[in-house]
Amino acid sequence: MIRVCPKCDVPLFILHFKDIEIDFCNHCQGLWLDADELEALMQQTGASTHDPLLKFQQQSGIQPNGRPHLCPRCDAALHEIQVSEMEGRAPARPLPAPLTLDKCPRGHGLWFDADELQQLLSMFPTETGTGRTIDYLNELFTTKSN
Ligand SMILES: [Zn+2]
Ligand SMILES: [Zn+2]
Repeated sequence: MIRVCPKCDVPLFILHFKDIEIDFCNHCQGLWLDADELEALMQQTGASTHDPLLKFQQQSGIQPNGRPHLCPRCDAALHEIQVSEMEGRAPARPLPAPLTLDKCPRGHGLWFDADELQQLLSMFPTETGTGRTIDYLNELFTTKSN
């Protein structure tokens, strides 16, 4: 099945980050992570099972206003979730504004608009190795979008 961008309706490219597959939109630079890919990515960055990304998957979301964005895997309308801070510890770098991510109500994964994943990763303490991941992602996406 061809996966399409929830926002632009164009086919997504598959990028490989280590052994994780990331669905990337060349048009809006957004990306989709399946739930298990997200978990794998967080493990690669040294995040623990208590880290918020894993919690976000369980959060219930609100229905967006206007045209719904559809899950690339099941075509269900994605729910918006707001991410503003990490629970239980101070972020390494506070977010300039809360992030609004799109989540499949059936738990397939999360959609990140351009740079949202990097912003989210930048909240993690540097010793978890997210800096390297961010650099890698930036490089990956810059190469692809040129
Ligand atoms: Zn797109
Ligand atoms: Zn879905």
